[in-house]
Formats: sequence, structure tokens, C-alpha cells
Amino acid sequence: MHDTQRRTLLKSAGALGLGAIAGGLGMPAFAASAIKPGNAALIVVDVQNCFLDGGTLAVKGGNEVIPVINKLASGFESIVVTQDWHTAGHASFASTHAGKKPFESTKLKYGQQVLWPDHCVQGTDDAALGKDLKLPTAQLIIRKGFHKDMDSYSAFEEADHKTATGLAGYLKGRGIKTIFVTGLATDFCVAWTAMDARKAGFNVYVIEDATRGIDLNGSLAKAWKDMTAKGVKRIQSSDIAA
Ligand SMILES: [Zn+2]
Repeated sequence: MHDTQRRTLLKSAGALGLGAIAGGLGMPAFAASAIKPGNAALIVVDVQNCFLDGGTLAVKGGNEVIPVINKLASGFESIVVTQDWHTAGHASFASTHAGKKPFESTKLKYGQQVLWPDHCVQGTDDAALGKDLKLPTAQLIIRKGFHKDMDSYSAFEEADHKTATGLAGYLKGRGIKTIFVTGLATDFCVAWTAMDARKAGFNVYVIEDATRGIDLNGSLAKAWKDMTAKGVKRIQSSDIAA
């Protein structure tokens, strides 16, 4: 069969959930649990008290990602955890800018910045990792957003899109080419991390049910659209081989 025909048939069989039929035609059946992490890294973005229930910038449903991430962890040799780690009086805090309220935005030197409630201040309990997160095999914690005048949603680059956090070098130095991104929040730190990882040349999956979004003025749908356009693959935790 011609490759294009085969792809079309596989696609339509897949759309109808007819993996078994495709298999019966001598083609590979669609296995739901097909993705093998290999030596990929699991990136756990900002699962900190500030973004969990009762935190200063709680993401709705944020706590629900913890059991999903804990379960995923056993399938990965490399795990990197990130923490939003701001100075007091940080540029991303509305309280730093006279007359501004949380969730408004302002123009800073490096571009437009959404202003947030004070959150994840260095060394506070609010900035600590969620206590139910169980990642004993995690090897690296990347802290970001610690420059007072600049935010960093991304675990790879600060908001000027120039200042590196060092994560790309760390992963490349260990021969890691693929990452699976989880954590909070989907439409900000997860999305920026995933897109910057693509820019740095990594294969990138975002595990949707291991993330939750803030969804500020449609930002969640936009983030998925932007991520997809950059080649980020959107999957569920059940798509990963156990
Ligand atoms: Zn922040």
C-alpha cells in the first residue's frame, strides 16, 4: 500500500478508535500506552505551595496534578523540578507598581508583563515544594525568576528571551533529547518551558492531565494553540508506557 494511503487509513481508523481493525489489516495496532520515555527527562514545573490550594496564587485544581506526577516519576531516570523563586518586591508583583492590581499587566524593559499577587518569595513556606510531591529520585532543582527586575515563566530562559537558566546545557550534557513537561500552570510556566525547550532543540511532550491552567482571558486555549504550532506534543499520562 502506498504510504499516503496507509497513513490516511491509519488516521481514520484511529479517529474512530478502530486500532484493532488497523491491526487486523496487518498494520500496527494503535496502542494507547505506546510512548516509552527511554532516557527522557520528566520536568516538574512549579508544584509549590504558592500555586496549590491555600497558596498566594493558587491554580484551580492544582493539587490534582500531584498524584499523577508521583505516579509518572517511577518511569523516568531523570527528573528535574523547578521552583518559582522571587525576591520580595519582584517586578512581576502588582504590589511593586503603584496603582496596579493583580492580573492587570504593564510594560517592562523586556516587554509586556502580567502582574500577579505577591507569590513564591524565596525561602518562604509559600515557595516550598508541595509536601505531597514524592520525587525522591529527582536530581536537579532549577530556581527561576530570582532576578528582581525580570520574570521567568520558562525553566530555560528568563523573560528577556536571552538570559539562560542553564537547564538546556544540563540536559544536553547528559545526552537527553526528549522532555515530558508537567506541573503548574499550563498556560504560563509549563507552556513557556515547553516552547523554549523546542527552541533549544528538544522533543517535547506536555502531559495534559499532569498540568492545570490559570486561564486568564483565554490564555489556556491560546497556550495550547501556540505550543502545538511550535511542535509540542499534547498527551495524557495514560499514553505513556507503564
Ligand atoms: Zn512567579
